[in-house]
Amino acid sequence: MSVSQQVIEQTNKYGAPNYHPLPIVISEAEGVWVKDPEGNKFMDMLSAYSAVNQGHRHPKIIQALKDQADKVTLTSRAFHSDQLGPWYAKITELSGKEMALPMNTGAEAVETAIKAARRWAYDVKGVEENKAEIIGCEGNFHGRTMGAVSLSSDPEYKRGFGPMLTGIKLVGYGDIDELEKAITPNTAAFIIEPIQGEAGIIIPEEGYLKKARALCKANNVLFIADEIQAGLCRTGKMFACEWEDVQPDMYILGKALGGGVFPISCVVADKEILEVFNPGSHGSTFGGNPMACAVSIASLDVLKDEKLADKSLELGNYFKEELQKIENEVIKEVRGRGLFIGMELTEEARPYCEKLKELGLLCKETHDTVIRFAPPLIITKEELDWALEKIKSVFAN
Ligand code: PLP
Repeated sequence: MSVSQQVIEQTNKYGAPNYHPLPIVISEAEGVWVKDPEGNKFMDMLSAYSAVNQGHRHPKIIQALKDQADKVTLTSRAFHSDQLGPWYAKITELSGKEMALPMNTGAEAVETAIKAARRWAYDVKGVEENKAEIIGCEGNFHGRTMGAVSLSSDPEYKRGFGPMLTGIKLVGYGDIDELEKAITPNTAAFIIEPIQGEAGIIIPEEGYLKKARALCKANNVLFIADEIQAGLCRTGKMFACEWEDVQPDMYILGKALGGGVFPISCVVADKEILEVFNPGSHGSTFGGNPMACAVSIASLDVLKDEKLADKSLELGNYFKEELQKIENEVIKEVRGRGLFIGMELTEEARPYCEKLKELGLLCKETHDTVIRFAPPLIITKEELDWALEKIKSVFAN
């Protein structure tokens, strides 16, 4: 039995079945390429759901990890660490916000945003105790914690996990009238992905984000952008909100914030919002740990130094146009921004992902009929051409 088969058997036998991975085992990775234990090479077109924007094992990020591992790995927040201050300075400068609060996973940062918004509603806006409401969008994905699944419109994310958080309303993604109707004096926040990733790379109609932002401002409602997947250069801009020149009240970040090397997430916002937290109100043993901060500083430097937003925009436009040229009646639409591209089919996408895997290209279906193409942003045009050849052959009539 091959090592890969053995690993898959162990995973199926001992692992809770909460994922349905493609049958490939990855044991090595570099840049846009990964290898299985048998030495077969594949191109990674998923980038761990956009956590590896900087490419697998970027040398500068790995160096930061190694250097920090030789100094100190964990202090807890009971003490200061020499990495946390510089990280705060970097992330606030990058986002143009006054303060940040670091956590570990995306879902934890979403929880942080919900808590911040609720407390802000009571302490600053003056909403009556326990009456604060949060508005989310249908089709959203904010993670798997109870707060995040309470915001979801997908019954499978919630089935058997009730009771859900109360004080949540959902509106159609892109429907400004519904949002206007949903806002009440008790509304604390509107939370939105500027492009819905897990839903299948759904881009709202031009002007929607701007109108929603203005509506929130007019009603003293926080506009919270979940940029965990779409942010940090993925869509061809540092933040996906920039596509409509929108400055949210709060960004939620994760994934590529740690370069795919170390988990780190955060919320960033102005003092008026994040100063609602006081010692004892929120935290995490590993949140803002020295390893995560050192890796995150290097990860953000790589995004900027290597101009990965510009690269994503330029190569994304090229890749999207080439994909749009493929003629096959099963392809309904190819859409996206930067190297964040969804190919919607008229039938199940999984068999196509399996065929692409056989040809050495790894991508994953999302919401049944969409293939998501989101390679590491350090990919070259030549590598994209290689991928295009494989994709074209799978869709050759
Ligand atoms: N929010 C968005 C927009 C996401 O895409 C994800 C993950 O895919 C999350 C939140 C949850 O992040 P994590 O899986 O790190 O908890």
